Amino acid sequence: MKPRIGVIALQGGVSEHLQMLHNIGCATVAVRSLQDLDGIDGLIIPGGESTVLIKLLLRWQLITPIKELAGSGIPVWGTCAGSILLSSEITEKSHKVNQPSLELAAVRAERNSFGRQSASFQEELTIKGLDSPFPGIFIRAPLLYPLSSEAEVLCSVDEGAVFIRCGNVWLSSFHPELTDDARIHRMFIKEIVIGSQPGH
Ligand code: GLN
Repeated sequence: MKPRIGVIALQGGVSEHLQMLHNIGCATVAVRSLQDLDGIDGLIIPGGESTVLIKLLLRWQLITPIKELAGSGIPVWGTCAGSILLSSEITEKSHKVNQPSLELAAVRAERNSFGRQSASFQEELTIKGLDSPFPGIFIRAPLLYPLSSEAEVLCSVDEGAVFIRCGNVWLSSFHPELTDDARIHRMFIKEIVIGSQPGH
């Protein structure tokens, strides 16, 4: 059976994730309401604007259901703004910001760490689990600071960590969906297939 992956579709880079998931043989659901979460095997929270996304998640009452899904072991992956929303602490210019989050990963996300929009950049990344560099696209990206030993850093750049996993919760501050390299999406799906095997 094809894994069924939901992509939160309230704002931001939704279609690119859906397309990439489709290309690698997944069934996809654009999640806009509670019912759309039914029966999904994995969930992606895309990039966009975290301040807007959190308001929309609150408005559509998706916070608790997403926390429950993650709590039940369903893999959840946030890219860029999505990674900010999964973090337990959000800061900007080293100050704590008054912005609610899903608090699913023991990580501090430092918003807009790399400067202004014009400072968006691309860098070849060395990622744990991949045997050759991955094209990392950063757009007003956060830096991710692990806050516990549960938070495993899968990739860092000179400034700090940009890809962390905390068990079934994945955070990447870059945008794999904007490349034509599907290896990280495949890694995520592999995780789902392994996790659903009997006895796991
Ligand atoms: N800077 C944005 C935020 O804080 C994230 C940008 C992105 O998702 N590309 O939400």
